[in-house]
Amino acid sequence: MTMKGALIFSDFSRAGTVVARDVDEGYRLDDPVVVIDSRKAVQGAVFVALPGERTDGHRFVGEVFAAGAAWAVVSRQWFAEHGEAHQGEGRRFLVADDPVAAFQQLAAAYRERFDIPVIGIGGSNGKTTTKEMVAAVLSTSFNVLVTQGNFNNHLGVPLTLLQMRRDTEVAVIEMGINHPGEMEFLASLVRPTHGLLTNIGHEHLEFFGSLDGVADAEAALFRYLEAHGGAAFVNEDDHRLAAAGTTLSRKTGYGMQPGAGRAWWAENIGADRVGRVSFTLSSESGVRQPVAMRFVGRHNVINAVAAAALGAHFGLDPALIANGLGSLQPAKGWKRMELFDDGETVVLNDTYNANPDSVRFALDTLAAIECRGRRIAVLGDMLELGDNSAIEHEGIGRYIRELPIDACLAYGDDARLICREAGDRCAGHFETMDALRQFLSNYVQPGDALLFKGSRGMRLELAADNLIKQK
Ligand code: ATP
Ligand code: MG
Repeated sequence: MTMKGALIFSDFSRAGTVVARDVDEGYRLDDPVVVIDSRKAVQGAVFVALPGERTDGHRFVGEVFAAGAAWAVVSRQWFAEHGEAHQGEGRRFLVADDPVAAFQQLAAAYRERFDIPVIGIGGSNGKTTTKEMVAAVLSTSFNVLVTQGNFNNHLGVPLTLLQMRRDTEVAVIEMGINHPGEMEFLASLVRPTHGLLTNIGHEHLEFFGSLDGVADAEAALFRYLEAHGGAAFVNEDDHRLAAAGTTLSRKTGYGMQPGAGRAWWAENIGADRVGRVSFTLSSESGVRQPVAMRFVGRHNVINAVAAAALGAHFGLDPALIANGLGSLQPAKGWKRMELFDDGETVVLNDTYNANPDSVRFALDTLAAIECRGRRIAVLGDMLELGDNSAIEHEGIGRYIRELPIDACLAYGDDARLICREAGDRCAGHFETMDALRQFLSNYVQPGDALLFKGSRGMRLELAADNLIKQK
């Protein structure tokens, strides 16, 4: 494979019109740094000017060239009006009707020259977690490129592909969609050789219509793999995915427990004092490998089994897989059941997002924590529930009363209903973040365990972080 790790003239000319004095068919840009944020433009970077709602990337073309950028990907319209004024030595333009499409084409052309396994990870929930686990497992033996953070959409995916380097041995790419047809498009850029769908759940139903609609849209990843000889990893616990997987010729099934079609599963699922999960990784070939994770929450077991199935497919032995899974530490600011435990106070920061199912689930996890003080749930509004909002918030309040949870603090307008239904478990309702933070700093005692959970928009992590800072 030639020209790995370089953008070459034909990549640019395929994506748009090249306007540059010093560029011809022999041109190559090694280890390209492609940015969409002008502040990240470094010497030799390719800057893509994206039209934005608040600000238009074209406004920063002068700035990025001053910072040493080698290329600007710009719209034809902008170039007609402003191109002349910005020309100069070492300033190269890729001019396209649509700079976003040009950027995607550039990434696609670049990716095509890498003859390595590329693992696409889609599904409704757990994509970021699973790709981190897959990367942790594969990194024990390979040089792995993995999507940074949550960069999983029509911009994040090409940005990630453009980070492939000559020495990259495997790429793990998170693929997030919110419209029908998007998975087909992302797959055309990613060209996955392997693919995994975490599960099918309630996501963007306003665009997908129903869970079957979500499944059909996500399953485009499987269809791509089938059409191109790729290997699929199928969560057999999810009946929609199991159904979508039935006709695949190269597949590995997995699940939380043994059963038909499962090559990999978990047994002896347990948790330590503060909820960190453990299980025995098991396979139809007879593997029985204990795994102890630093992640809290039972759903992480299926994410880990998925990662293990992939690791085994790449020839890693079970002990190494367990090592990779066990050494992975949720990043700071992870906010998905992120655990703080100083031996005195336990804080579970689950403020990444919230819906009725995940709140109940998080409350179950809190209820199972062993602590000498109180179990305290700090809950914010669950947003975007539409007409069901009141009923769902009330339901959470009643659920708390059924659990060994000592106190509930509610934050936000809708969460008031949680408090009302929680009855004497409710220790306070707060309308401002300041009031909540203030209350917590006096209220929390050594030995207490706290769960913070609310929709992302509620920014409840501000309360959790503040409490941890005081520790
Ligand atoms: P996004 O769509 O925001 O990219 P994602 O699919 O990447 O989300 P994660 O960020 O890994 O998902 O996890 C988000 C939340 O989804 C977690 O906090 C947890 O509540 C839930 N979750 C994670 N894994 C699973 C799973 N296997 N099944 C159900 N829910 C899960
Ligand atoms: Mg994600």
